[in-house]
Amino acid sequence: MKLQHSPKKQLNSASMPPTLFRKMLVVAILGFSAIWGIDLSSGIIASFDAAAYPICISAFALIYLLSVITKINNQSLHFFAYFIIAGYLISTSIWHHMDANGLFSNAAQWLGLNYVIAYLFLEVKKAAPTTILVFVVTVIGHFSAVIQNHNMADTMGVVLNIAIAHMIYIFLLWTIIKLRVKTDQVIEHADTLENYAYVDLLTRALNRRGIEKVFNELDLDSVEQKKNYAILIIDIDHFKQFNDINGHLVGDEVLTRISGKLSRTIHPNDVLGRWGGEEFIVLTLNRTPQQVMALAENLRAAVSNLVIDTISNITVSIGIGYSHEASSKEAVFKIADEHLYIAKQSGRNTIHANHF
Ligand code: GH3
Ligand code: MG
Ligand code: MG
Repeated sequence: MKLQHSPKKQLNSASMPPTLFRKMLVVAILGFSAIWGIDLSSGIIASFDAAAYPICISAFALIYLLSVITKINNQSLHFFAYFIIAGYLISTSIWHHMDANGLFSNAAQWLGLNYVIAYLFLEVKKAAPTTILVFVVTVIGHFSAVIQNHNMADTMGVVLNIAIAHMIYIFLLWTIIKLRVKTDQVIEHADTLENYAYVDLLTRALNRRGIEKVFNELDLDSVEQKKNYAILIIDIDHFKQFNDINGHLVGDEVLTRISGKLSRTIHPNDVLGRWGGEEFIVLTLNRTPQQVMALAENLRAAVSNLVIDTISNITVSIGIGYSHEASSKEAVFKIADEHLYIAKQSGRNTIHANHF
């Protein structure tokens, strides 16, 4: 079991999970249908929109279906959806501006959405160039539409207005995204530092503080429902002597290798930690005493079979305490410690526990 920590933010991946994306598609379908209905009932629907609304609604429905029934990558669907929205908003605004009387069209008010939606739907890396492209198409498109029926000064007035407003949109959005990325980095950094506080740097197992944290999180001695668990204390035999003969650096390497071996031998739901010095702890949940003994035997055998360079006679002794033997984890720990002492007395490289 690993320490719980908040999932790392993927700064450059799509920020929107598929379920949220589908919800947004439903909102888009409902939104377009509502505007279509209002325009139709008020009798002011433009011929462009009369054709575009059903096309957009069908496209959103198709994207929704594709996201449910196919394995098409989410990014492609996000792009597809964005292409429909941006394409519609730009083309309807240009179409309205082509009208001889359409120097100022309401449709232009909606164009800013293109930048907001780009940052909502797309990865940050892709959203930035996409907004630039959308900006260029918008400005050139509107210029070409307005110039057809108006003089250069009027055209420039409209197009510059659009261009400046849109540049501000892009700049502000970019600033917000940069702030968000910075916040994400700070959170990630804090997560890493927090992990360091709970992990033993030599063996990469949980340190004492980490073990205590996980034990507390698991609420082992919960008053509502006491958990069924066992604590194994694993102590390397004659390690002082080992250090004296082979040196501390080799001793460190052995500690790391033993930690790795123990970690690979336990069940994924078991907790391994370095209690201190050459002592490790395993917490195992919901196992019968027989299963706990089998686990301890696997751990003992795994270490005694370890060969590190030419060194092969490393052994451990293990003491076990069961949750049903005492009322608190501290008392269970004490029982395990007493059994470890007996295991050492009875010759080491062995396991000791009460039998049930
Ligand atoms: P026993 O079989 O009774 O457990 O004997 P032992 O020598 O293992 O026990 P003792 O408590 O006398 O000595 C523990 C030794 O563990 C002392 C110390 O040199 C060694 N040790 C503790 N932490 C480290 C470490 O981080 N690196 C290395 N290389 N050795 C360590
Ligand atoms: Mg020892
Ligand atoms: Mg010891």
